[in-house]
Amino acid sequence: MKRSFWRVLLIGFLGLSLVALAGCGSQGSALDTIKKRGKLIAGVKADVIGFGYKNPDTGQFEGLEIDIVKAIAKKILGDENAVEFVPVTAKTRTGLLNNGEIDLVAATFTVTEERKKEVDFSPVYYEDGIQLLVMKDSGILSLADMNGKTIGVAKGADTGERLMQKAKDLGITIQTAEFETYPEILAALRAGRVDAFATDGSILKSYQVQDPNTVLLPEKYSSEPYAIATKKGNDDLRQVVAQVVEELIQSGEMDQLIQKHGLSGGIDK
Ligand code: GLU
Repeated sequence: MKRSFWRVLLIGFLGLSLVALAGCGSQGSALDTIKKRGKLIAGVKADVIGFGYKNPDTGQFEGLEIDIVKAIAKKILGDENAVEFVPVTAKTRTGLLNNGEIDLVAATFTVTEERKKEVDFSPVYYEDGIQLLVMKDSGILSLADMNGKTIGVAKGADTGERLMQKAKDLGITIQTAEFETYPEILAALRAGRVDAFATDGSILKSYQVQDPNTVLLPEKYSSEPYAIATKKGNDDLRQVVAQVVEELIQSGEMDQLIQKHGLSGGIDK
């Protein structure tokens, strides 16, 4: 009687251990998952010329961040074209990464202390800053002219918070209106529902060219260091991504890519 009790307990314990082991095994490492799948799934911008842009003429993604992702795919899979590009926005990128739909985010993603608690970041590969896009006939020349006015910002972006702080420093009061996507902010600006459209200058350039009646004000109101994000705990992938970014910077290739895409905000080595 006693013996069979212990036997049942032992079998039960072994069974539970097997289930636990199988659970671990099915998760595997992030790199193994990518290798087994045969492609890297990367969250990128589709509307930021020079960074992540789906060229309507070719249907292909192009830009600095696309080239960095291709270098990562080459390192992991030996093939720079073994990539599926998934368009993301400031609002969707962290969720898609953390629920496992994408392996990494290379999408004008600014490193902040807050975000470091949610995702892991690679070394910084580019530095940008917040600017304002306004209508030419608005008479607005800088943030200082925005007292009592409304600025359109994207959900999930750090723009609103940073501008609020800047406005406070300038002793003015501004309102921010949040939108799901950047095209909606451009539409709101043109319709006069907001007085300015704010985000990083690199992103605004792609919207300025869509309407010759808008002007991109030159002043920058923040420092936006861009890095590639991976899911917390995916340490083998994080290490490879960091290695690729570091190698591109040290070899001078990052500077070449920045020039190739007509960008100017490179980082110091
Ligand atoms: N770079 C800024 C951020 O990460 C702007 C938003 C965006 O990338 O769309 O919050």
